[in-house]
Amino acid sequence: MPGLTTNYYFMRQTHLFTKTLKEAPSDEEAKNAQLLIRGGYIHKEMAGVYQLLPLGLRVIEKIKQIVREEMNVVGTQEMIATNLQRKELWERTGRWDDKVVDVWFKSELKAGGEVGLAWSHEEPLADMMKNHIASYKDLPVFVYQFQNKLRNELRAKSGIMRGREFIMKDAYSFCRNEEDHNAYYEGSKVAYMKCFERMGVGEDTFVTYAAGGAFTEFSHEFQTICEAGEDVTYVNKEKKVAINEEVYSEEMCAELGVSPDELEKVKTAEVGNIFNFGRQKGEEVGLFFSEEDGVKTPVWMGSYGIGISRMMGVLVEKFADEKGIVWPESVAPYKVHLVGLNSDDAEIKDYTDGIYTTLQRRGVEVLYDDRDARPGQKFADSDLLGMPYRVVVSKKTKEEGKFEVVVRGTAEVMYMTEEELYSRFAA
Ligand code: ATP
Ligand code: MG
Repeated sequence: MPGLTTNYYFMRQTHLFTKTLKEAPSDEEAKNAQLLIRGGYIHKEMAGVYQLLPLGLRVIEKIKQIVREEMNVVGTQEMIATNLQRKELWERTGRWDDKVVDVWFKSELKAGGEVGLAWSHEEPLADMMKNHIASYKDLPVFVYQFQNKLRNELRAKSGIMRGREFIMKDAYSFCRNEEDHNAYYEGSKVAYMKCFERMGVGEDTFVTYAAGGAFTEFSHEFQTICEAGEDVTYVNKEKKVAINEEVYSEEMCAELGVSPDELEKVKTAEVGNIFNFGRQKGEEVGLFFSEEDGVKTPVWMGSYGIGISRMMGVLVEKFADEKGIVWPESVAPYKVHLVGLNSDDAEIKDYTDGIYTTLQRRGVEVLYDDRDARPGQKFADSDLLGMPYRVVVSKKTKEEGKFEVVVRGTAEVMYMTEEELYSRFAA
């Protein structure tokens, strides 16, 4: 059936099953979820639990692709681990206990025995690596995955920024020694910052010292300035210094070469977190390798997370205006929102269809509002959905041969001929 095919690069709104909503559900407090629900990006199933609808999935896939490219650059290999986890394994490291890890979801097998639902994957991946790491020659190994994590979060009031099920990119490094570990650890910081820059929040994202290092005294977090964030951070934008409130002290300031009065206290969202486990995890799990002289040594481990779905929420929170979502171009579900007016006029409708087809042929990611609706409704929806460029086609634009291109989130308006339109947006 022609008309019913779908393609990654383009979409007619008359085919898109999701509808925009005037109001978000009354129990939804967070701006990110309110806007995403109203735009038809996500559906709220229950508190802290959301389904990703076609538009939302596209944003998530774009974020993932940016992260995937940067993880690959630093030599990390993609895989997917299972979400069902063995109790014995987590008992070995003392992390099965709900008092130690307070976000476990656990279940029972009908065949007998308990399983854990993945809140993280350090233990299973370290254990799995026993099959692949035997000698120093097998090291280092770097793996990552995009995975749904399940956490029984007590508070879930931040929309998709704190889900009970959420998408994380988690990476794990397995090294021979501290030197190799540090090289990857520092490389991952650079890779992470590239990701955040590509998503448009590079300037507002800081590597911070934070509590929670298992091996070292500190872990590093990546915190993005965001009013809706749950963390408090002291930052100096010029010096790119940031300290999490949890570990903030006058001594810490001195160590980082800033005085307390140079720091600004801001709300931030933790978008990433990296840990150094030293040899402790390898030892506990029993992941050893043979050194050159045959001595069995525990592998040096690190773990590295990015909150993929939280990131989507942070981008909505940071860039939205009073009319709706404003996507950075790098993660927008479609680059161009083609809005057809006067669609009751068959000639104009054909003409607009033609522009849509040409944009497709030129490889432009385009969402086409081909609905039979009032202009006011179309513009309001277009503002809510937040594509970077809105191109309006009407009887008037056809006659004048000039198209008004509105850059979402700015006051900028460009005027283009039909040909300019194609060349400007072609991939
Ligand atoms: P938080 O302090 O926000 O609870 P965390 O320290 O528990 O985060 P990690 O276990 O290091 O987080 O997870 C890696 C990343 O996953 C975090 O940096 C964050 O971006 C994201 N993340 C953690 N918990 C959630 C959640 N409940 N919903 C969405 N994203 C999350
Ligand atoms: Mg947490």
